[in-house]
Amino acid sequence: MKTKIIILIFVFAAISVTAKLQSDPLTKKEKPKSYIEKDRERWEPYYIDVQPNKTVDSWKVPFETSNRFKLNTIRVISKFGDPRLTFLKNHIHPAIDIVPAKPGELITVYPVAIGVVCSIHLGDPYKTVVIKHIMQDKSIIYSSYKHLQEIYVRNGTQVDQNTKLGRLYTHAEAQKLKGNYDHLHFEVRKSFDDFGCASWLTMTKEELNKYFYNPLDFLKNNLGVINIIPAGRK
Ligand SMILES: [Zn+2]
Repeated sequence: MKTKIIILIFVFAAISVTAKLQSDPLTKKEKPKSYIEKDRERWEPYYIDVQPNKTVDSWKVPFETSNRFKLNTIRVISKFGDPRLTFLKNHIHPAIDIVPAKPGELITVYPVAIGVVCSIHLGDPYKTVVIKHIMQDKSIIYSSYKHLQEIYVRNGTQVDQNTKLGRLYTHAEAQKLKGNYDHLHFEVRKSFDDFGCASWLTMTKEELNKYFYNPLDFLKNNLGVINIIPAGRK
């Protein structure tokens, strides 16, 4: 009886060693973690899981222009999808960099739609506010506003298109910091699973497509009032 048990233990140990060897990460080819996957946890503490009180009923440009439904009231300085040499070499720019077409001295930034502030992260000169929006079909979209010199909202603030989120750097302030930070880095996001770091760690077209919409196309296609279908009618 004792011998049988010893043999059984031996066989069991042999099987588990074999299984372990087979699952050894060195013998099996595993996909290396992306920069985004490695870094995302660091940014999670800045995120809060809140729901917007109201659904999106229109989209506007994020500045106080002569007509916030018109795309030609903003000027695009830098495009979506361009390779970038700053921070992480060759990361993809997942935003558009914009200013009002007729900028004043101090430029205030407003939400593109109604929603709730779900993340405020980074420091000067990259301070960022992220807004979570809920659509009529219950899907979620995020908009993100980077390079704010001052921020006037907090995590959890319910915002509409007239809420002042913050203001941009003036040209003089940006020069003092030795960078061209006097514009809004504006993103429209499909996902915020990265808690913000995909903004500077997107290295592939797949990642770009996973997290971001082309914000210029998005504004082109959506600026204006959304037609609301009255309940009970189709
Ligand atoms: Zn940018």
